[in-house]
Amino acid sequence: LNPVPSDIEISRACIPKPIDKLAREIGLFSDEVELYGKTKAKILLSTMKRLQDQPDGKYVVVTGITPTPLGEGKSTTTVGLVQALGAHLKLNVFACVRQPSQGPTFGIKGNSLCTGGAAGGGYSQVIPMEEFNLHLTGDIHAITAANNLVAAAIDARMFHENTQSDKALYNRLVPVNNTVRTFSPIQINRLKKLGIDKVHPDTLTEEEIAAFVRLDIDPDTITWQRVMDTNDRFLRKITIGQSPTEKGFTRSTQFDITVASEIMAVLALTDGLEDMQKRLANMVVASSRKGVPVTAEDLGVSGALTVLMKDAVKPNLMQTLEGTPVFVHAGPFANIAHGNSSILADKIALKLVGPEGFVVTEAGFGADIGMEKFFDIKCRYSGLRPHVVVLVATVRALKMHGGGPVVTAGLPLQKEYTEENLDLLEKGCSNLRKQVENAMAFGVPVVVAVNVFKTDTDAELELVCRLAKEAGALDAVRCTHWAEGGKGAVALAHAVQRASETPSNFKFLYDVELPIIDKIRIIAQKIYGAADIELLPEAQQKADLYTKQGFGNLPICMAKTHLSLSHNPECKGAPTGFVLPIRDIRASVGAGFLYPLVGTMSTMPGLPTRPCFYDIDLDSTTEQVNGLF
Ligand code: ADP
Repeated sequence: LNPVPSDIEISRACIPKPIDKLAREIGLFSDEVELYGKTKAKILLSTMKRLQDQPDGKYVVVTGITPTPLGEGKSTTTVGLVQALGAHLKLNVFACVRQPSQGPTFGIKGNSLCTGGAAGGGYSQVIPMEEFNLHLTGDIHAITAANNLVAAAIDARMFHENTQSDKALYNRLVPVNNTVRTFSPIQINRLKKLGIDKVHPDTLTEEEIAAFVRLDIDPDTITWQRVMDTNDRFLRKITIGQSPTEKGFTRSTQFDITVASEIMAVLALTDGLEDMQKRLANMVVASSRKGVPVTAEDLGVSGALTVLMKDAVKPNLMQTLEGTPVFVHAGPFANIAHGNSSILADKIALKLVGPEGFVVTEAGFGADIGMEKFFDIKCRYSGLRPHVVVLVATVRALKMHGGGPVVTAGLPLQKEYTEENLDLLEKGCSNLRKQVENAMAFGVPVVVAVNVFKTDTDAELELVCRLAKEAGALDAVRCTHWAEGGKGAVALAHAVQRASETPSNFKFLYDVELPIIDKIRIIAQKIYGAADIELLPEAQQKADLYTKQGFGNLPICMAKTHLSLSHNPECKGAPTGFVLPIRDIRASVGAGFLYPLVGTMSTMPGLPTRPCFYDIDLDSTTEQVNGLF
């Protein structure tokens, strides 16, 4: 339709096919599919085993230029591209996208003036959009529950250690059942870690008992926070333990948003149940007073975490407006975590589409953030090698990179964005050039997708395509999938198909065995364009500590603003010559990365004056959800 109706109107006007029908169409057996109503299903991990001898399909990652409040359309392009490949070129396809957090759904949608969730938009969407944006199948709630069980375990354990003797602790931790005292499997692991080679609980010496029962957590080293999936700024700093029952053991702590939690990153990076179990057990929550890392397994909670996460680990099947399959699975924040959907979804999808098919997966934010982490973290753990990078750009956003005026929500766009302005656009293409080079640094062919807005002129679109090719992109094509659905991305689909046939020469940016600081410097200089990095004392201390604790060989997950290639969100285009300040370094040992903090990163968003929830309501007659967009 012209004008294009709102995202929710389009989503609602399309009746999705029953999800069990779609599951059959794509070759799933009925015992591999757990239905969650008519439009969503979980897919069992056993599918991967059944299809293990099937060759993988072609693997495509969608990324973008540095985001601006004008919106670039990565999700929309991911969906438009699979609609084109699947419904128009009649190939087997799968889109793999992240599950959105409820924080932005009820608060403020990212930084975008082009409001919209992660379901895509216009005629390129995952449907039903309400299901996609709300609880889906409860994975985020499971993560919240698991995360907070760890938090409760930490404080309760410190409390009990602080208020009981070694003997009393031992009697409670290793109770007598039917006259025998036995260790649980988790406790046997802890004994092994302490080097205590005894299986009979009654034979431990007093020193061994003391070492066994006391984790001796140093409260100042606790890195584990409580989480919830709501933008609640007043939880950014809190004091816990104020009831008299906690006997004065108060402590200052904070809540993060669930999608920033390590368990979310574990879900996204695991490749199976056994691996998830290990990663959850290895999560480091603090250090002891002697500097020994304390893990979820030391707290005895790792088995329970796996139980809480046993359904969340199965990818969720949904569909696009044109009936092609989509996995919606995991949604780690792209700033302090790695911002990519799950390895499991990609792996199952690659088997399901077969060697001639395509899996299109999306990496959050710009190529310097989501794509770098996609390659250096996700691909390193999955072992998968992408065939093509699709880099999304828009004329409007590039104009902002060229120095276009700041835009304000609620006010009309300035003429720089609505009228032809080739000078501004050409200047802003510095960002496109740098991000194309960043993608090429990994040795994978790049196709630039210019997501057309109705105000773009022919000359402007031509200029972007020309400059993209000059920067090294194999191809650069205009696409109109937002206004036209898959039909509008057929040219992009052909370009991707061609690119997937050219040899790719994939390589990681750095060797994980390099010292932590060297790895950070390589990312800063090669991807961001920095002259050098500057380590603040805290960051240097942490680099030394993690090296000593044996975590120095983990990949790096930079926690940096997504709004600039540099650390300063105001710096648009492709800044050079700056020195990147590294304030601190943290570790997500279970998920498997170290994350240096570049400046301050908020891990709990707040609500704006007029949050999205003002518009959200239920029509009690039709049970229709209104106000989501
Ligand atoms: P990203 O994934 O880059 O954050 P999205 O794909 O979620 O961006 O798009 C953000 C918003 O912009 C969505 O609401 C979408 O409907 C809108 N949008 C995307 N492309 C276009 C376009 N070509 N014309 C108009 N609106 C668009």
